Amino acid sequence: MADRLGRLLGIDLGGTKIEGIVLADDHTEVARRRVPTERERGYDHIVARVAELVRELDPFAPDCRRVGIGTPGSLSARDGTLKNSNTTCLNGRRLLDDLRARCGLDVVIENDANCFALAEVHAGAARGARIAFGVILGTGVGGGIVVDGRVWGGPQHVAGEWGHHRISDDGPPCYCGQRGCVETFLSGPALERAYVAAGGDACDAIEVARRADDGEARAGAVLERYVDRFGRALANVVNILDPDVVVLGGGVSNLARLYTDGVAAVRRYVFNDELRTRIVRNALGDSAGVIGAAMLAR
Ligand SMILES: [Zn+2]
Repeated sequence: MADRLGRLLGIDLGGTKIEGIVLADDHTEVARRRVPTERERGYDHIVARVAELVRELDPFAPDCRRVGIGTPGSLSARDGTLKNSNTTCLNGRRLLDDLRARCGLDVVIENDANCFALAEVHAGAARGARIAFGVILGTGVGGGIVVDGRVWGGPQHVAGEWGHHRISDDGPPCYCGQRGCVETFLSGPALERAYVAAGGDACDAIEVARRADDGEARAGAVLERYVDRFGRALANVVNILDPDVVVLGGGVSNLARLYTDGVAAVRRYVFNDELRTRIVRNALGDSAGVIGAAMLAR
């Protein structure tokens, strides 16, 4: 069928769920499926789950010869195995080769934050930007760079990994082996921990913000420190990359004050007498990752 030409198939391979999507040429959604990852069942099981999902979606994209996969971590430039994934059973494995063999299609694998940035540039809040920096503020902190409509991964596939910039020598230890990484301050769990450390009860980041808005001094102080560090961390990125737009995603991107006080904090720390960088909320929500994965297939 002629109208099926140009359809794109993408998979978002996450730690708890695997989601697949088929997009039409104009990026409208044709089909979507979701299954639990069941990562406790190991590597071969996950590879089989992805292949199953691709088989299920393939009839909606019969002319598609390539599938894009977005996942945490990236392919090692040394030997092509996956590294830095928080689904640790995938690390050190030949995920790309194994998926190609199981799916019978060409496969492209890209970091999930890079997929997020790609989707927001082509179909979301960063549309038309020449240089965009996509930020994930969620369970972890990720970042992705898109230049002229394409992911800029770098020769070592670490471009955009600002979550492991070290912004404090005496900050909390990070799983990467350093201390005081951006992620240890700006992830959702980090904000929640900071509130508990200040004497608050356990609640999520959005609730901390609500309490701050209601005038609770403790929540206000925790959030003020959070926003200040957000500004420091993002100003570092702006100084190096000078993107046209920074688009925020992940659960913590719902904090309204990131777009007011947060922008003011970036302006405070950037090495310039003004801040032209647009800092915006994502437009595609949780779907950005899987949409970006499908865009890899082009
Ligand atoms: Zn780290």
